[in-house]
Amino acid sequence: MASTVTLLKRRTTTIRMSDVAAVVSPTSTMTSLLLGGTKGAGGDVGKQRCCGHDLVGYDALPDFLKHNEFVLDYYRSEWPIKQALLSAFALHNETINVWTHLIGFFVFLALTVCAATMVPMETSVVATPAGHLANCTGNHTAPTAYYGTNGAAVAMQALLPHNVSVSVEPELAAAAAALSSSSAGHMVTRWPFYAYLCGAMFCLLMSSGCHLLSCHSEHACYVLLRLDYAGITGLIVTSFYPLVYYTFLCDPFYRDLYLGAITVFGAAAVAVSMLPVFEAPELRWARAALFACMAASGLVPIVHKLLVFGARPEAVLTTGYEVAMGAFYLAGVVVYGARVPERWLPGKFDLFGHSHQLFHALVIAGAYTHYHAGLVYLSWRDMDMCSR
Ligand SMILES: [Zn+2]
Repeated sequence: MASTVTLLKRRTTTIRMSDVAAVVSPTSTMTSLLLGGTKGAGGDVGKQRCCGHDLVGYDALPDFLKHNEFVLDYYRSEWPIKQALLSAFALHNETINVWTHLIGFFVFLALTVCAATMVPMETSVVATPAGHLANCTGNHTAPTAYYGTNGAAVAMQALLPHNVSVSVEPELAAAAAALSSSSAGHMVTRWPFYAYLCGAMFCLLMSSGCHLLSCHSEHACYVLLRLDYAGITGLIVTSFYPLVYYTFLCDPFYRDLYLGAITVFGAAAVAVSMLPVFEAPELRWARAALFACMAASGLVPIVHKLLVFGARPEAVLTTGYEVAMGAFYLAGVVVYGARVPERWLPGKFDLFGHSHQLFHALVIAGAYTHYHAGLVYLSWRDMDMCSR
């Protein structure tokens, strides 16, 4: 009993007000719960634990993991693969980076499955019921409604204002069948659309894997960063495929010229990214510029599209989506290069809100916008194979 009282006294004297404040603070309490540990009373870096390992500060990192000096803490450094994998379910400064793109990957996987089951395939003669495609996107406006009950419904929908979506009665559809275009029942090839979806999924998966596992070793970091760069390149290159292929469907010279040029550009970018110097922190803007230039070269076929098809609503609508996509990607590149907001308050955005997380969100927004453009291209070319 006496020894218990002595022990209680000893423990009582070790509790300071600063410790109490730290424990009752909602932020520190939540962070501690998620991390499975607590920070030392003096706020010393290196006391955080995750998956049985210490999280360390920026200064304790080997050079290959030093990418952003404004993120000060919560780093994993040279962890075994198993612990690095398990750390997907713990909180450190890469957790949000891993999950933003992993969730994005599953969203695009769902979109791909949805499109494969709802969007009529090129071998289909009779299209799927109206509205099914809209379920893939939540968008019930005119472009996706082109996929009507049959070619007649497609033709009827095409005659309506673009903000009007109607359900076409079977009788009306049958009556309108005589008016349906000669291309009804023929579907344009789908490979450029699915190539884009695969490019987006590859990019998101490689990025997620890179953020999760590159803390393992210098060699793993080198390989995974190359796969990450290849993923970004793949996303950019395959983004061109629906735009170029469907716009210039009936002009094989420009179609093949643009497809060939962007594919060669992408292969060159992957080759350049293999150079070890490519990942030097001081070349952050050079990396951003290379990918931005590759994406910006999309202006050429887009302007060409407007010159040739500027009067077509599909050309205007897809250009609107492409401008929105470009705005998302541009904002992402600026945030990535400038490293804001953590530059303004170093250490305050280590876990939540630093520039790379914002960059990831903007990439997903841009990719999702382009998915909608892809649907419009499909509906355009299903309706109108080769007339202007
Ligand atoms: Zn990333």
